[in-house]
Amino acid sequence: MDSVVQRLRVDRPVFSVEFMPPRSEEDERVLWRAVRELESLDPAYVSITYGAGGSRRDRTIRTTGRVAQETTLVPMAHLTAVEHSVAELRNVIGWYAAVGVRNILALRGDPPGDPNGEWRTHPEGLSYAEELVRLVRELGDFCVGVAAFPYGHPRSVDLDTDTRHLVRKFDAGADFAIAQLFFEADDFLRMRDRVAASGYDGDALLVPGVMPLTTPRTLNKTVELSGAQVPPKVAARLDPLADDPAAFRAEGIDLVTELCERLIAEGVPGLHFYTLNRSKATREVVARLGLVPGRTATAQRLRA
Ligand code: FAD
Repeated sequence: MDSVVQRLRVDRPVFSVEFMPPRSEEDERVLWRAVRELESLDPAYVSITYGAGGSRRDRTIRTTGRVAQETTLVPMAHLTAVEHSVAELRNVIGWYAAVGVRNILALRGDPPGDPNGEWRTHPEGLSYAEELVRLVRELGDFCVGVAAFPYGHPRSVDLDTDTRHLVRKFDAGADFAIAQLFFEADDFLRMRDRVAASGYDGDALLVPGVMPLTTPRTLNKTVELSGAQVPPKVAARLDPLADDPAAFRAEGIDLVTELCERLIAEGVPGLHFYTLNRSKATREVVARLGLVPGRTATAQRLRA
């Protein structure tokens, strides 16, 4: 099976998708419908987020294993250092290897309960994602990704320090980074410039994270995750449509498609879609971007 980085190092931009572990049987049905609908579009890889506590973590592990064993997709498991000893982390990583998951997004995670609360390292655990990258690398032939923050991680004192910490994760062995959500292409591109200006001379890839803005809820989620306010240009297009769901959705999809077009023109290797376990909006955007090779070829044949 290809690794994430092999799937990213091709001569055209690709897309990938992110899912969350299901919380209930109904959630599970919704998730698997989205997985199957996206499978036919051949995303470069699919990632499953790591829950904050016990049972959600088991569901992440189970779901990622199922993707590896029951689909044609390339799975990537998110893993955090939160409340784990190194021995526990080794077990989880070993289990992934056993079921054929060879791609791991290595994260520190946030303190449980209050994400802005004080970070407490497990007495036998790890303090930074950089250490988890090293651990995963040490344990086998994994492809390893990390998180990157276009506006800087909320705990970083400034953007230069934040960039240094990202580069340390690359130097520790990360093959690529996926960016937290952002609103404008320039926000991502400035981060890419900061990495280049830092003197980093490796070949780790930077992949933008994108969420289709289909509802006011997804817009609020982008504000929450990115840590940025909605830029006036975006607000001017979406705010007047807050009470018209169909018009909001259409404008939001236009906005995200335009954002992706600019990112592709700037040479990003791929686009990572945060799906919230729904596939429709992502399918629409990737179709508009022409990122579904089989379908594009079919469409061209049909038109000919
Ligand atoms: P780190 O890289 O360790 O950084 C944490 C803070 O410490 C930063 O301020 C950084 O600048 C600083 N720092 C880093 N290295 C050092 C060092 N050597 N010395 C001093 N300071 C340092 N959370 C989940 O719980 N589950 C998920 O599945 C999940 N998936 C995510 C996917 C993506 C694409 C992104 C962008 C985030 C995701 N998160 C997830 C959230 C993430 O866990 C949090 O944002 C967390 O606060 C930071 O994790 P990190 O891996 O970037 O940490």
